[in-house]
Amino acid sequence: MDCCAPSSKVEPVKTNCPSCGEKGRSVPLITLKSLLTAYSLETIEPDHTYVFCPNSSCNTVYFSGTHAQTFEEDALKVPVFQKNFSMNVPVCYCFDWTRERLAQAISDNQRPVDHIKSHVQSNRCGCEVNNPQGACCLGNVTAFVGSLK
Ligand SMILES: [Zn+2]
Repeated sequence: MDCCAPSSKVEPVKTNCPSCGEKGRSVPLITLKSLLTAYSLETIEPDHTYVFCPNSSCNTVYFSGTHAQTFEEDALKVPVFQKNFSMNVPVCYCFDWTRERLAQAISDNQRPVDHIKSHVQSNRCGCEVNNPQGACCLGNVTAFVGSLK
């Protein structure tokens, strides 16, 4: 399944983050199974829907809409782009484009967005198992590159 194709997007379960109140986006269970540390993975309830909180000022990464369970960044094996402002945090997780690598490429007059997009269009990405948001990174990449100009 092409995780980045618009046609494969399921209608998101709109649930408010219990920590900040903002709307989150539901993520596939495989995203948590792939990215949670062993200790946290032992606590998930696979029949619940888990939701990603994209609010950069909120510490909660995932929460369950159906019972009171939250996971913060330390529950994941990778840093979370939306929650961690370090330059060595990936923006594109599949192809390992950190903020730093993107900034370097832009200053070298390369076109990293086109580069990433071509891999995505060739169905090489695995966002649902690599990216904590469980979905394609392109919007984040475009926004970050835009913020550099
Ligand atoms: Zn939140």
